[in-house]
Amino acid sequence: MRPELLNPLFAEVETLKGVGPGIAKALARLDLTRAVDLIYHLPTGTIERVRAPAVNQAMLGRIVVLDVVPFEVRAGAGRAPLRIFASDSDGNAITLTFFNNPAWAKKQLPLGEKKTIVGKLDAWGQEWQIVHPEVLEPSKAGEVALREPVYGLTEGISNKRMRELVLAALERTPDLPEWVESSLLAQNHWRDWRAALAEAHSDPDAMSARKRLAYDEIFANQLALMLLRQVARRKKGVPLQGDGRLSGQLQLPYRLTNAQQRVIGEIRGDMAQDRPMLRLLQGDVGSGKTLVALLAMLEAVEAGAQAAMLAPTEILARQHFSTLQRQCQALGVTVAILTGREKGRARESVLMGLADGSINILVGTHAIFQQHVGYKRLGLIIIDEQHRFGVSQRLLLAEKAVHPPHLLAMTATPIPRTLTLTHYGEMDVSRIDEMPPGRTPIETLVISDSKLADVIEGLGRHLAAGGQAYWVCPLVEESETVDAAAAEDRAALLRERFGLGRVGLVHGRMKGPEKDAVMTSFSSGELGVLVATTVIEVGVDVPNATLIIVEGAERFGLAQLHQLRGRVGRGSGASRCILLRGQNLSETGRARLALMRETNDGFRIAEEDLKLRGPGEILGTRQSGEQAFRVASPEDVAELAPIAQGDARLLLDRDGGLASERGQAARLCLYLFERDSAVGLLRSG
Ligand code: ADP
Ligand code: MG
Repeated sequence: MRPELLNPLFAEVETLKGVGPGIAKALARLDLTRAVDLIYHLPTGTIERVRAPAVNQAMLGRIVVLDVVPFEVRAGAGRAPLRIFASDSDGNAITLTFFNNPAWAKKQLPLGEKKTIVGKLDAWGQEWQIVHPEVLEPSKAGEVALREPVYGLTEGISNKRMRELVLAALERTPDLPEWVESSLLAQNHWRDWRAALAEAHSDPDAMSARKRLAYDEIFANQLALMLLRQVARRKKGVPLQGDGRLSGQLQLPYRLTNAQQRVIGEIRGDMAQDRPMLRLLQGDVGSGKTLVALLAMLEAVEAGAQAAMLAPTEILARQHFSTLQRQCQALGVTVAILTGREKGRARESVLMGLADGSINILVGTHAIFQQHVGYKRLGLIIIDEQHRFGVSQRLLLAEKAVHPPHLLAMTATPIPRTLTLTHYGEMDVSRIDEMPPGRTPIETLVISDSKLADVIEGLGRHLAAGGQAYWVCPLVEESETVDAAAAEDRAALLRERFGLGRVGLVHGRMKGPEKDAVMTSFSSGELGVLVATTVIEVGVDVPNATLIIVEGAERFGLAQLHQLRGRVGRGSGASRCILLRGQNLSETGRARLALMRETNDGFRIAEEDLKLRGPGEILGTRQSGEQAFRVASPEDVAELAPIAQGDARLLLDRDGGLASERGQAARLCLYLFERDSAVGLLRSG
């Protein structure tokens, strides 16, 4: 089975009939650039239209398909709309209102001629009204679909157009051999891939079709991760065993927790092998992962190798850099930083230091894996909080080196087990399940937003006492622009109260350096309040900030709230988290916030979150970086990932080279979803 079979699907959307640069550009805004993207652009719901001979009360607010005869035209004076009065078969008068293009409307609706109109029926005063109806010849009325799938749209593309595009793309779907295990197919009554796709597009409520498509996606992901593990383990790594001469000198104001001791033991055990380590370190916010990372890096340095630590953002990279530098100076270990910001001479000198081995530890953003960055002897890579360090990047790492470095990924996202599977399924897991002693638990309060003024007063007292605070504004819309505007409003209000120089603002629309500048003045204590949409970076550590206020708390995922709450409680002082809630909370909404008040246990919160989240109740998984799938919902992932993992593992156990009939089919599935890495993953050792 050749992957070329899929080529038509991976062609640019411009290769579809009637798609020019304009449409292509509009589609690109929805991330739809290839035919395959369109076939997986599944409808989000259904438009229903009612065909009736005459209007009645029950049809108000619905889209009607109605035959009418226009009997009077009233041109609007000035800016008033054109109104055409028409009657239905019962003699009801319906006003057809046109705010623009009156000449066109008059031509479409000549007096006394029967026409079919389609539009939403409103009441306007005592009148029935339809604004901007579609006008058809009555002979065409039968062609109007009474149920039509609705698609996610963007400016310049109507639903009708989108549907045409999707159908054109669907025509390219080849018949593919089945990759889903036959008993699974039978048990779920799943149809084949092509039929499931067609069904999901014709009937948005076809749950079984959707589920099968979700399974495909999750199966491809699991297969990719298993293959990644094979690739990463194919080459020999370099065993690294330290002698404690550096870590032994490390000056720490505290003792390692038992959990830290245990996980560093597991990591050292891995690093001593000649098989590259593939390990995930999970530990709740504040559990002390950075120190574990440092000990692992010192181990590598003691063994004569270099270590690199990848942070998700510039600001976190700088924060790690300054912590590490402080701790390593006395040990004679050289730490450097490399981000997009290091240019010219500074960059050159880091590159030289890496190449000649005089730099022992490098911290940075993605820049540290760019081409031209050559290490003398890179032995260990640590990836901090990097969901977006995807399969293809991980593959690159494993492929590039003659001896792949040991790899440690760290995450505080208290993701449930199933999500760990889909993100890090190829890794062994270590868990820090204990907090450093002496932390005062964060006190969490849930307060109605009708008390906003009181909360602001409280914030004033907190600032007056020398404290700092975060103020988080929620994602209101699926639009960064609107969210940014809401955050700007809130910042303006707080600035009025506390002064311009005391309140900073960061949001998703700001450029990196701009954001970093604000974060830096917050870390330095210059700013008292940091207003933010959820871009407050995971891992930001400002111990003096002991108050966090989250507006519209019910709109967040619980795991996310927990992450946000973890911004405070980082010093020894008492910290407080105020969850401001809207006034019309559902039962579930209440239960969710109550859980936040009740527990600080990230893993418990994550598990409950999945149970408690009513469909449609949760907003903004988008910023948590967990929305890796096109079709599969979090619920699908929870249900199907364990099955897919078992299945992928079984398949590879039986047929490691994916040479059997089903193996070949599975290759196609992999190409379909993991195209960027499929070739690399399937290259036989
Ligand atoms: P995270 O796991 O969220 O990355 P950090 O590594 O930033 O957490 O640690 C949070 C805080 O806890 C830091 O200020 C760190 O110095 C401190 N810390 C780490 N380990 C211990 C320990 N064993 N005892 C006391 N404090 C610790
Ligand atoms: Mg951290």
